[in-house]
Amino acid sequence: MSINADAVSSEKLLEVKDLKKFFYIKKGLAGFRYQTVKAVDDVNFYVNKGETLGIVGESGCGKSTMGRSILQLQKPTDGSVKFEGIELTKLKNHQIRKLRKDMQMVFQDPFGSLNPRMTIGSMLKEIVNTHHIVNEKDSRTYVENLLEQVGLKKTYYNRYAHEFSGGQRQRISIARALAVKPKMIVCDEAVSALDVSVQAQILNLLQKLKKEYQLTYIFISHDLSVVKHISDRVAVMYLGQIVELANKTEIFDHPLHPYLKALLSAIPQVNQTNRERIILKGEVPSPINIPEGCRFHTRCPFAKDICRKKVPSLEQKENGHWVACHFV
Ligand code: SF4
Repeated sequence: MSINADAVSSEKLLEVKDLKKFFYIKKGLAGFRYQTVKAVDDVNFYVNKGETLGIVGESGCGKSTMGRSILQLQKPTDGSVKFEGIELTKLKNHQIRKLRKDMQMVFQDPFGSLNPRMTIGSMLKEIVNTHHIVNEKDSRTYVENLLEQVGLKKTYYNRYAHEFSGGQRQRISIARALAVKPKMIVCDEAVSALDVSVQAQILNLLQKLKKEYQLTYIFISHDLSVVKHISDRVAVMYLGQIVELANKTEIFDHPLHPYLKALLSAIPQVNQTNRERIILKGEVPSPINIPEGCRFHTRCPFAKDICRKKVPSLEQKENGHWVACHFV
């Protein structure tokens, strides 16, 4: 059964099918042979309008590459990405540029993505004018209102990026994404570099803006508690594939995949009684050398012979809960 089978088609904003993104790196000193890095390998999911889909997994699991491939910032190797029914992978660059207004991205490092030579006001105004969001004579007022929307003062208009704190710079990044009135924002580790108190402020801001602007988010993070706070549904990634996907309550109350169970068991709780800690063995294998069978078998405490030979497919169990494991 397709993972998208239970979606209401009229509500779907984004549909990803069999998405692959491979990189090819030279092997050996002569460099005549290539190795394949399978960063994203056969990923399927959808995102409904107005929904927040959290994507969680350890560093290097392919979640950021997937975000960039969805927005066509990196051309996918194979598969389909439909945004409002439009197949993005078939579009020419100039067609993608036009559509990108509707699909914005907020990155982990706001400082790296802000122009240090421009005031934030002129940077935002330039974006607004380039995309003809409002009449040029109204663009300054539009930008000042935008700054207030993200919790900054309009008097900050003439300041430069280096004059702000990390949290304020992330607010500017959010303002930049919002400036073009997008329908969907991909947040890639958007709060990971911030202090916990500032993280909470930015998460609350994102939720407020989602309601006000009817936004749809894909929220990528390695942090389970952050993803739990903000998401409606959650997909868990391991070595380039989704291994579990369900709505937030279902996935956190009834985790099924041993990988998610292990991640959750490592989070300290006030009441630790009755909770079994699952210790994962070893490191995440390299995406150059992906294990046969279940990709998680090298670390899974429940692995059996079949796990080393046969790839478990992502199957729907109950309550819209999808999982890829032979023994669930
Ligand atoms: Fe573990 Fe086997 Fe399930 Fe993979 S298929 S998660 S190795 S029990």
